[in-house]
Amino acid sequence: MDLNLKNRVALVCGASKGIGKACAIALAGEGARTILCARTESLLKEAVKEINDSGGEADYITFDLSNTGSIKNLADRAISIYGRIDILVNNAGGPPAGEDLSFDVSAWEAAFKLTFLSAEELTKHLIPDMIKRKWGRIINLTSVTVKQPINGLMLSNSIRLAVIGWAKTLSQNYAQYGITINNIATGYTLTDRVRQLFKSKAASADKSVDEIIEEIGKTIPIKRMAEPSEIASVVAFLASDRASYVNGATIPVDGGYSVSTL
Ligand code: NAD
Repeated sequence: MDLNLKNRVALVCGASKGIGKACAIALAGEGARTILCARTESLLKEAVKEINDSGGEADYITFDLSNTGSIKNLADRAISIYGRIDILVNNAGGPPAGEDLSFDVSAWEAAFKLTFLSAEELTKHLIPDMIKRKWGRIINLTSVTVKQPINGLMLSNSIRLAVIGWAKTLSQNYAQYGITINNIATGYTLTDRVRQLFKSKAASADKSVDEIIEEIGKTIPIKRMAEPSEIASVVAFLASDRASYVNGATIPVDGGYSVSTL
């Protein structure tokens, strides 16, 4: 299927590593000029080089998405690179894990800023231009925790649902301007971050990280974790005209992990 993103410009947040980087590679691979945003310039440069060396067109912006007061700045810089943004992928690092009652107010506020406000503010500043051009795609990378809470992930279980409610509301009001807004409920995906998270689990169980990954894989109907590119393929589809009638959806890409019927 040719997704034909040749005349589109994409901004992918949290794109120096993991799933965000895979999304940037997939969108650029379909022809979109792609701007990668994250905090670490060296990693962004590497990712942009990888895309440009394989025939894509990419650039980057170094920005900390928890600086929610300055997000208009990010939106303006992004628009100035290729003249517009058609596709926005909202993504950042996940909120920290921890016991249910262990988070103080500042932890809740920090998680809310990074997980909710960064997406809300960036969308708010980019959507007016999409309305003018009567075309836009906003894709929020969330988590399987919106379908099924995971113990130990209280901040994600709670705040990611605010993203879903916000996105659903927007999707009702902006589809008339050719803008679709959808969410991915990402399941276990093999990124460096996940490998890092499993290190302590592996050490306490006296197992290797690969053994832990295999064990968790077995709990998923598809019997393995996802590769980042498997999440990115769905994002690229949602970003295309092929997905023109998909709006307000939260799509689990989790190998069947979440057991809710809908
Ligand atoms: P990752 O740590 O590999 O990548 C996160 C990206 O976001 C990196 O590029 C990082 O630099 C960037 N980032 C983090 N904080 C930022 C900030 N303040 N400002 C700008 N950029 C920032 O993580 P990942 O595994 O690719 O996961 C991406 C998202 O998907 C996370 O929110 C994670 O919780 C969620 N998720 C991941 C999985 C999984 O199994 N990997 C499952 C469900 C949900």
